[in-house]
Amino acid sequence: MSRKRVIVVGVGGFIGSHLLERLLAAEVDGEPVYDVLGFDTSTSKIEGLLDHPRLKFTKTYVDASNVEEVIGPHLDGCYALFSLAAVCNPAEYVANPVFTIESNFIDSYKLVELCAKKKVWMLHTSTCEVYGRTIASYLDGNQYDDPELYEQREDQTPHLMGPTVNQRWCYAAAKALLERYIYATHTDRGLPFTIIRPYNWFGPRMDYIPGRDGEGTPRVMACFMKALLDKEPIQLVDGGTATRTVTYIDDSVDALMRMLERPEQAQNTFFNIGNRQSEVTMAELASTMVEIYAEITGDPEVRNHPIRHVTGEEFYGPGYEDCDKRVPTVARAEELLDWHPNNDLRQTLRKTMVYFHENYGAAKPA
Ligand code: NAD
Ligand code: UDP
Repeated sequence: MSRKRVIVVGVGGFIGSHLLERLLAAEVDGEPVYDVLGFDTSTSKIEGLLDHPRLKFTKTYVDASNVEEVIGPHLDGCYALFSLAAVCNPAEYVANPVFTIESNFIDSYKLVELCAKKKVWMLHTSTCEVYGRTIASYLDGNQYDDPELYEQREDQTPHLMGPTVNQRWCYAAAKALLERYIYATHTDRGLPFTIIRPYNWFGPRMDYIPGRDGEGTPRVMACFMKALLDKEPIQLVDGGTATRTVTYIDDSVDALMRMLERPEQAQNTFFNIGNRQSEVTMAELASTMVEIYAEITGDPEVRNHPIRHVTGEEFYGPGYEDCDKRVPTVARAEELLDWHPNNDLRQTLRKTMVYFHENYGAAKPA
């Protein structure tokens, strides 16, 4: 069996690094299945794999101006291309909205055209954030008792983003436009595609810990983890009432691998990939992480870890608006991919936090 060439743009990121491990490890009858061509500006999460004989890595920023030259020559005979590269951190949407839009739409649209020209299967990580806020959140009394008003279905749920002046939505709007561009290119020019909408995938190597291996405000798991590691108050935005469904990275990458193995089922459709059993408010996420960290460190004092309440504006700046609730239906992934997440919330947090404790704990500064 000849090996399949897979291109991963954004291979050095959190998801890319886990996907890379799985692609290089995949075997059928003892034979490796994939050769990987990876592109990213960053290598810190994949250092241990850079010398792998079936990885060819190019350190570069891929955008509309160079994509033809950088990616184009590799598309003939390519089995699939994962497009993962993006700015995807809410602090950036408010602080750097132009860059967020450039990264999530302008940098990527030419890649769509190239894949269409060469008929290469493009698997693109969009986001669950394209759904925006729930219908329930706009109704009197919120009406969260009716799942019809908040559950997110791939082809039925409308995209309800807030006003343009609330810049938080520039990411979701750019992602939604790229989704529409991909879908239009499919219907017009026969691009084979899969759109993936991740729901808060957590795990080792997610983001960075500010002051240790990065600067700024990462996503919530790393923010809470930094507070625990550095014994600073956990900052809870707007009362911590917003919910997320937390999905372990191994389960998530399992879905991506199943897509690759089942092209007939996975092509030309959209998938929510999230663990609907792991819905949690951000206040519950904070208290559960505190509890688990007390277990990991064996220090009962951690249970008294301080929480500081802040407004979205104080924490992120003007223009922040939150997604109120994110619960996917995953019937499509269950049916077409036979995919089921195996890790519940506590397992996900424990595995993730053990990694951060071991790699960034007090004994191990920067
Ligand atoms: P990440 O920030 O860890 O990884 C993104 C990687 O892309 C980084 O290594 C970055 O250096 C690289 N990159 C960015 N722009 C690039 C460019 N122009 N050229 C080359 N490399 C570039 O983020 P992640 O969590 O791995 O997310 C990957 C994708 O999944 C993103 O498109 C994101 O929007 C989407 N997503 C992720 C989640 C999640 O839960 N992790 C949720 C929703 C959507
Ligand atoms: N959040 C918080 N404290 C933090 C960081 C984030 O309360 O230190 C909240 C944020 O307001 C949102 C949720 O956590 O309600 C998830 O934020 P994240 O940055 O992970 O991004 P999102 O899930 O919105 O893409």
